[in-house]
Amino acid sequence: MSTGQSADSNSASLRIPPSDPRFRAVVDKRFNKRFTAAPDYVRLVTTTDQVLSSVQDAVSEKRRPVVTSGGHCLEGFVSDAGVRVIIDVSPMKRIYFDPAMRAIAVEAGATVGETFRALYDSWGTVLTLGEYPEIGIGGHVVGGAFGFLCRELGLAADYL
Ligand SMILES: Cc1cc2nc3c(=O)[nH]c(=O)nc-3n(C[C@H](O)[C@H](O)[C@H](O)COP(=O)(O)OP(=O)(O)OC[C@H]3O[C@@H](n4cnc5c(N)ncnc54)[C@H](O)[C@@H]3O)c2cc1C
Repeated sequence: MSTGQSADSNSASLRIPPSDPRFRAVVDKRFNKRFTAAPDYVRLVTTTDQVLSSVQDAVSEKRRPVVTSGGHCLEGFVSDAGVRVIIDVSPMKRIYFDPAMRAIAVEAGATVGETFRALYDSWGTVLTLGEYPEIGIGGHVVGGAFGFLCRELGLAADYL
């Protein structure tokens, strides 16, 4: 996006200010209440293009962005006072077979529980994931992801 223009014509409608009830829903969903964020606005994204335009807008505005998925960060990475924009990918929950990649795609907003269920119900398979069903795949897999099956199968990150 070299033009600096938003790639998404709906970009403005995705910008959720503090006065909108959805703002608090995103900021307050964090598991660890020790840390608190006070961003200028949040984004609820449903597509890859919306992720791109949200990041581009934040960078153009010189606002520090952060991404959140399931809200189960144990540290203050999302809920940090320096964060100016929270991009919430939790609406991105599709789990589907991608014929081009010849692989099952799990979007970053799916939870561990939703992923276990979909993999077994649709394909009769399992992935080594963590032990708590509400964790978001977005933060979980990039953080390693150990669970019941890790001694046999390793970490989920090994399959990323
Ligand atoms: C109750 C509880 C039980 C847990 N159990 C386990 C367990 O059994 N096994 C295990 O391995 N871990 C476990 N964890 C740790 C958990 O996997 C991590 O805290 C994980 O990072 C949470 O991911 P999230 O998306 O839910 O959290 P978030 O708070 O949304 O994100 C956590 C971090 O990941 C980043 N992130 C989120 N989405 C993305 C994305 N799409 N791309 C890149 N970065 C992203 C965020 O910026 C942040 O730094 C547990 C945590 C809790 C609170």
